[in-house]
Amino acid sequence: MLDTKLIDGKAHAAKLRSDVAARAAALKAERGIVPGLCTVLVGDDPASQIYVRSKGKASIEAGFASFEEKLSAQSGEAELLTLIARLNRDDRVDGILVQLPLPSQINRQSVIDAIDPEKDVDGFHAQNVGGLWSGGPALIPCTPYGCLLLLHATQPKLSGVEAVIIGRSNLVGKPMAALLLREDCTVTLAHSKSRALPAIARRADILVVAAGHAELVRGDWLKPGAVVIDVGINRIDLPGGKSRIVGDVAFAEAQGIAAAITPVPGGVGPMTIACLLRNTLLAACLRRGLPAPPIG
Ligand code: NAP
Repeated sequence: MLDTKLIDGKAHAAKLRSDVAARAAALKAERGIVPGLCTVLVGDDPASQIYVRSKGKASIEAGFASFEEKLSAQSGEAELLTLIARLNRDDRVDGILVQLPLPSQINRQSVIDAIDPEKDVDGFHAQNVGGLWSGGPALIPCTPYGCLLLLHATQPKLSGVEAVIIGRSNLVGKPMAALLLREDCTVTLAHSKSRALPAIARRADILVVAAGHAELVRGDWLKPGAVVIDVGINRIDLPGGKSRIVGDVAFAEAQGIAAAITPVPGGVGPMTIACLLRNTLLAACLRRGLPAPPIG
């Protein structure tokens, strides 16, 4: 039985946030630049409201300028595109984050395409996606980048390692594959149509799971000694009208088999916001032709 190590996302995120805050303070003191992050919320989805509020709070804690734009759930695409065009021109804003999901009358891709790639702190714009895959400069999506930082903290050298990712979304799985390829891993990207998924997973020295399926990955899917990054966030109902958040990996079953695993909550989630702050600081520097700050 292995002594499975817990990868403490909260502690790693706190360190990254404090590094970002120190760099932001230096940028202000030396050049008078205050990085600015603007969140855009369309509609009144309760979960999105919580996410937007916590991103605003984290921005202020990092010493950034925090802006918030809200549109009603009935707003049309043209209204949102006009707002984005204004934010693209606003020099106080270095990062634009449009909270997803958007109401059905708005085309998500049109909105992503409209954001100035230099302010695209989510890293979803085609220019940033292309940069990531081709090895050029890019703002990298926050969640997979946070996963990579957690992996590096556990296993500094990833070259030659067999990595399996379950989930191929543009938000998590695909950019994660690009990042691990960049690290010289041998990458398998699995999805809902993949055959013999447990056997694929069992090949993995590194297993990243972003499927959105509660406890999909069982203990016997894991190679002994694997490092497991669980991106999933799933609410499951419990008796008595209660509920609990679980990941995409059966956490208890992984104990004694995995070398290390991220908990849910407290693993990947906190890294996502920390990486958003990092991207905003990076955007504030790169937009002005300044060198990238050496953090993360
Ligand atoms: P998504 O867009 O729904 O994509 C899910 C992916 O998983 C798809 O590629 C899908 O395959 C695959 N999949 C679904 N069920 C599967 C199964 N039974 N076997 C194999 N593959 C399966 O989701 P997402 O945005 O990537 O998010 C994934 C999870 O991560 C969700 O729980 C989400 O809440 C969580 N998340 C967490 C954070 C964080 O900060 N911690 C950030 C983002 C997302 P197909 O392509 O074939 O449909």
